[in-house]
Amino acid sequence: MKAAAIDLAAYVREVPDFPLPGIVFRDITPLLADARALSACIDALAEPFRDRRIDMVCAIESRGFIFGAALARDLGAGFVPIRKPRKLPARTIGIDYALEYGSDRLEMHVDALCAGSRVLLVDDVVATGGTLLASRALIAQLGAELVAAAVVIELEFLGARTRWPADVPLHALIRY
Ligand code: AMP
Repeated sequence: MKAAAIDLAAYVREVPDFPLPGIVFRDITPLLADARALSACIDALAEPFRDRRIDMVCAIESRGFIFGAALARDLGAGFVPIRKPRKLPARTIGIDYALEYGSDRLEMHVDALCAGSRVLLVDDVVATGGTLLASRALIAQLGAELVAAAVVIELEFLGARTRWPADVPLHALIRY
């Protein structure tokens, strides 16, 4: 079944006041649990990038990994995890950044990307954009080329797109 035939938003559950009061958490586990919705979601995420010669998919811990690994397989690319602090075993680079709720730090292996590699950055949700922007900075530090970012859900009202560089496409399947 084609992605367009499935209303992916119908598979996203809203959980009010999680993980903090006032946050409406967009829970993708119903989408993951439905075989047709999951397949349509991966197809729709990959579609704009099939001819973009993506070498590497970089995905953000932890829900980004679910979509990122499937996309890497689909696009014939390698997979690079961008992880929370102290998870990666070898030498890392890192960056501190602000979240919609709190702050955090992301790390990558220092040898994860070759200079000039064409990268697609993947996560489940973009909220304020802090996580994607921090990841973009790590990818740039390794000399790779960020071709685009792809997310399942964009929380438009938080304005990530206004902070995201205009020359790097940000592909979002569902917008709130
Ligand atoms: P941000 O850095 O503000 O764009 O936040 C994006 C990250 O936080 C992603 O990794 C999301 O998984 C998570 N996140 C932030 N807000 C929400 C939300 N309302 N529902 C689900 N996940 C969220």
